[in-house]
Amino acid sequence: MTPDTIEALLEFDRDHLWHPYASMVQPPPAYPVVAASGVRLELADGRQLIDGMSSWWSAIHGYNHPVLNAAATQQLSELSHVMFGGITHPAAVELGRRLLAICPPGLERVFYCDSGSVAVEVAIKMAFQYWIAQGQNQRDKLLTVKHGYHGDTFAAMSVCDPLNGMHHLFTGVMSQHLFAEAPACRFDQPFEEQHIEGLKTLLQDHQERIAAVIIEPIVQGAGGMRFYAPAYLARLRELCDEFGVLLIADEIATGFGRSGKLFACEHAGISPDIMCIGKALTGGYLSFAATLCTTHVSDTVCSGEAGALMHGPTFMANPLACAISSASIDLLLAQDWRSNIARIESMLGRHLAPARELAGVAEVRVLGAIGVIEMHEPVDMATIQRRFVDAGIWIRPFGKLVYVMPPYIIDDDDLRTLATTLVRILAMS
Ligand SMILES: *Cc1c(COP(=O)(O)O)cnc(C)c1O
Repeated sequence: MTPDTIEALLEFDRDHLWHPYASMVQPPPAYPVVAASGVRLELADGRQLIDGMSSWWSAIHGYNHPVLNAAATQQLSELSHVMFGGITHPAAVELGRRLLAICPPGLERVFYCDSGSVAVEVAIKMAFQYWIAQGQNQRDKLLTVKHGYHGDTFAAMSVCDPLNGMHHLFTGVMSQHLFAEAPACRFDQPFEEQHIEGLKTLLQDHQERIAAVIIEPIVQGAGGMRFYAPAYLARLRELCDEFGVLLIADEIATGFGRSGKLFACEHAGISPDIMCIGKALTGGYLSFAATLCTTHVSDTVCSGEAGALMHGPTFMANPLACAISSASIDLLLAQDWRSNIARIESMLGRHLAPARELAGVAEVRVLGAIGVIEMHEPVDMATIQRRFVDAGIWIRPFGKLVYVMPPYIIDDDDLRTLATTLVRILAMS
């Protein structure tokens, strides 16, 4: 692109296109990407950036992947979309078969939806309908932990961290739910009963009002990038059973191998009653998600007065998205993805470790293909972003968190460059 074309593009963008969590009065800089292939994003001026974000957890196989492209092209020539009301199609069935084969045992029903936030809405609706069907309409509360992130729609937002989810902004228009402290025991620390005492007390005190506990298994993503002990999750499963409330696992960020297990629930060997997946489902090609549940949940929901789950998005089970998702799952399972994630984990561990010596750094932590550097103070996003781009890497920090979750296909050289450049730039800042 010529400099003039680029400037015109950026000018229209600045004037008219709203970006995530961005001001339209003082728009933050946006970098024009015109193509992407493998782990590289290509900017309009021809510069190439090593992608450290997988476009927010999703592009696990990298960009412009021949296998996913072929699946999309094939499906496009057959059926790009058809309504799912009263109609089914092979792409939906094929994907359903694959999901049931790999998801935690006990999950037997699949509800396809358009995005992660919608999958969370559907999960919450399932939980409420489950109780309404049993005449327990008083169960109008959800219980969750602080530092969670579940999406930006209203029900999802109401279970996000109350502070960084900006609950005060929406007081009065957002449902009020129950929050326990975030799990205090780190991934590799021994779990003790006291770590879950607060949550247990809330379960005890509000037992008759709680419909479900919703939590991100093992990895708290956008709400703090924290990794907690599998034993905490195992104990939470026990408590949900003991108190008779449903457990919703939000695997939207963790699903499809990111944490070192196909689904993070596997770290604790548990199955939730309801599970949300999204993000990496299509390998980052399209917005798509699903909510899965047990037969017990679906049977109960459907035995109620409504007789059905009261939800049905227009683009439900979009065939293109289904076909690409199936291809993405096959691609993942056809490789030794476990050793590959272990490779990324050990490289990130090694090359991010020097950041521990930097003055501004509070903590460095790595799990699976996720590397996090937590600073003492929030970083100046615009400044640090420009430094990253000038150095040829794409990383998008938020607040005090500078983190990477690269596409799984990243090779050792690019991974080393990504991590060492990141640390070098933090050292300068
Ligand atoms: C990203 C995310 C969501 C929301 O998904 P969207 O596709 O952005 O709506 C929900 N839960 C978790 C854990 C996420 O990481």
